[in-house]
Amino acid sequence: MLSEEIPYGTRHELKAFSTPPDMPIPDRLNLILILSIWAGALALLWLGSLVKPWYAVILVGIAFSYLMLTNYALLHEASHENLQLSPRRNYWLGVMAGVLFPMPFSVMRSTHQGHHVHNRTDVEMFDLYYPGENRLVQTVRWYGILCGLFWPLVPVGAVLFSISPRVIRDKYLARFKPAGYLMNGIQHSGIWSVRMEMLLIILFFFTLHWLLKLHWLHTLVLYGCFSVNWSTRQYVGHAFSKRDIMEGAWNLRHTRLMSLILLNGEWDKNHHRRPDVSWYYLPRLSSPAEVRPGYLKQYLRQWLGPRPNTEPAPVVSSPEPLLAGK
Ligand SMILES: [Zn+2]
Repeated sequence: MLSEEIPYGTRHELKAFSTPPDMPIPDRLNLILILSIWAGALALLWLGSLVKPWYAVILVGIAFSYLMLTNYALLHEASHENLQLSPRRNYWLGVMAGVLFPMPFSVMRSTHQGHHVHNRTDVEMFDLYYPGENRLVQTVRWYGILCGLFWPLVPVGAVLFSISPRVIRDKYLARFKPAGYLMNGIQHSGIWSVRMEMLLIILFFFTLHWLLKLHWLHTLVLYGCFSVNWSTRQYVGHAFSKRDIMEGAWNLRHTRLMSLILLNGEWDKNHHRRPDVSWYYLPRLSSPAEVRPGYLKQYLRQWLGPRPNTEPAPVVSSPEPLLAGK
């Protein structure tokens, strides 16, 4: 049993932890998924430019947005080094998923490790507010995420990070700055990795538009659909959960089709407990009798707005990156 190898609750004290031998990374399946998503995304981007009526562009955009949810799930796997056994293949397939998002893979890896290490602390508390806190800022940020405005911040932030000189980065993103926990994993040569990955993204989109004669506006509509579909569900796995770095997440109940699209992303509590386990096995980490809240009900609960905080903030216990040791 997995829980006997590394009991829950001790994970943060472990120096390194490795992929469980009975749960190997599904290398071939993940590779097929990445290649299929690339083929599907290129086809939909092309189709989105080909169709003329606005409603047809939106319909293609909706299909594109669901395909990109699976792409994000694979990008997420790569950020935990769970996409491929070989670190080199994991990196390059992660870069491929990042290009379609679009987000430099190194940015995803750093920001996502920051999310895991600081989960449910004050910097990752979007759903709750302290007495006397500015409710307006909290409310605008919360409904901004739900309405789909989170996604544009990612590519825009990555561009600003890529072009900003060191003095600016140190002023806003150094280790002890409020947002420093997100980008702190990117140091020295890592900054050049972000710049090269950013360049690859720009080259990809310009080449694609030139080769397939795509319409920029139609492409933006497709990404607009993805922006809403992705952003609105970004906090559903954590909203109103316990303020605990590891346990502050939900295992939700969803339809089989959405489980496939999200690559078991609704099992977020199991993922936070064991980020070294591939998406493929997440349901196995729970007993079949576990009671899970419904995904839709949990999603709709968020629209009632942020709530007063009643728990103390958890203390960050480990600065270690939560990557599977290979
Ligand atoms: Zn994760």
